[in-house]
Amino acid sequence: MPLSAADIIAQLTALLGANGVIGEAGQMAGYLTEPRKRFHQPASAVTLPASVEQVQAIVRWASENRVGIIPQGGNTGLVGAQVPLRGDEVIVSLARLDRIRSIDVAAGTMTAEAGVILENAHKAAEAEDTIFPLWLGSQGSARVGGLLSSNAGGVNVLAYGNARELTMGVEAVMADGRLYRGLNSLKKDNTGYDLKDLLVGAEGTLGIITAATLKIFPKPEDHETALVSIAGPEAALTLFQLLRERIGSRLNAFEIVPRIGLDMQLRQGMLDRDPSAGTSPWYALIEVSRMRGGTPGALMAAIEAAFTDSLIDNAVFAESLADRTRMWAFREQMSEVQSKEGASIKHDVSVPIAAVPQLIAEGIAAAERLAPGIRPVPFGHMGDGNIHFNFSQPVGAEPKAFMAEFDEKLHEAIYEIVLRLGGSVSAEHGIGQLKIDLLEQVKDPVALDMMRAIKSALDPNGILNPGKMLPR
Ligand SMILES: Cc1cc2nc3c(=O)[nH]c(=O)nc-3n(C[C@H](O)[C@H](O)[C@H](O)COP(=O)(O)OP(=O)(O)OC[C@H]3O[C@@H](n4cnc5c(N)ncnc54)[C@H](O)[C@@H]3O)c2cc1C
Repeated sequence: MPLSAADIIAQLTALLGANGVIGEAGQMAGYLTEPRKRFHQPASAVTLPASVEQVQAIVRWASENRVGIIPQGGNTGLVGAQVPLRGDEVIVSLARLDRIRSIDVAAGTMTAEAGVILENAHKAAEAEDTIFPLWLGSQGSARVGGLLSSNAGGVNVLAYGNARELTMGVEAVMADGRLYRGLNSLKKDNTGYDLKDLLVGAEGTLGIITAATLKIFPKPEDHETALVSIAGPEAALTLFQLLRERIGSRLNAFEIVPRIGLDMQLRQGMLDRDPSAGTSPWYALIEVSRMRGGTPGALMAAIEAAFTDSLIDNAVFAESLADRTRMWAFREQMSEVQSKEGASIKHDVSVPIAAVPQLIAEGIAAAERLAPGIRPVPFGHMGDGNIHFNFSQPVGAEPKAFMAEFDEKLHEAIYEIVLRLGGSVSAEHGIGQLKIDLLEQVKDPVALDMMRAIKSALDPNGILNPGKMLPR
């Protein structure tokens, strides 16, 4: 017989002590409300283990009692993977496991517990004159375990890779409560399946990560940051190629944003002033790092060449930290400003980089055919082929009616283009509960079978984040 909520709370309290369990609905609210406010299920309890042993105790208890458990980090995930689906699960927050266990500058590694907030990992690395280069808008809240489990991307993937590429090893509690001690920092280790790569990006469905060995890098001497006025995605692609040829791996970021995004932010009072060189249909935000002893001015020289080739219209270079911060704020506030402009329909998709202009052109045309007056706001990581293909409702439309009529139709239209161009329906945010039906439709059936076989081998009782990521 399933345990009652009261039994669950009493048994978990006996395991963890009173300050390790939250059972009162009001106090649980912060763990249940996710950023997009799309999922609204309760939980039986929230647990706050203070040690790896306590995580093991929770998992053993859940396995014995067949209770679904959901690992949670900063609760910033955008696909509902970290919040309940059924309403009877127990959330396991890793927030109290927040120690940096060690930093080894010579080896280029930092071992951090799952609950370390990304910004704190940045600070710990910088204190040793190094960087941990995973950078994203949620870095003040997102935690190491969640970042790895969602294989987060962000704005520096171009130079340093995504969370998977930044992880050397993980320690994780498996579904039977045993501890997988995989915190190695070996560059070469061909002794079988790469279990670290299986746990990274698994969205908490295969184990609970308790710590990870992460790659850190020498801190650049400084950055050159420019906001470039550009005619459109075609020109942006050519500019990107020119920069790759001239600057190589020091090109850290290449993001694109349409003018409408800047107008929205100025209108909503989210920027103190226009950071651009003037009105242009599109902007590219570009950042290049310079290592100690490197020659300054690499980006300036490349931009001058692009200007001579009539590839770009204008450019502004950040001359101070305030300028750089404003340019990045403009990019990072893109999602937020859309919620101030009424309802929006969003897609986190990727295609081969050369196909980005076609994706944007066809996607905009399809949306405008479907919903005249709709406001396309595609932006994001052009250098990774990853576009946040978002649309804001027409001005004056009724938000609920707009969503009811166009949400599904627009998804269908955009995903059809993405798949035809050889792309992915989830570039960096994952599957969670939001895209589980979609995954079943688009993923190679052999891949789905392999994923199911792995899941049932590693979690035979289905207690780890049940119902998420993997279609039945
Ligand atoms: C403003 C904003 C900007 C964002 N920008 C980006 C971006 O640029 N790029 C990007 O990739 N994402 C971005 N995101 C999405 C989100 O921040 C990332 O997915 C992040 O990696 C989630 O980390 P978290 O600690 O909040 O994890 P949660 O949201 O708590 O969890 C995410 C997933 O990881 C699992 N999980 C959490 N901890 C563990 C653990 N210890 N062991 C096993 N599984 C675990 C959860 O069960 C869930 O499946 C953004 C989100 C916001 C709100």
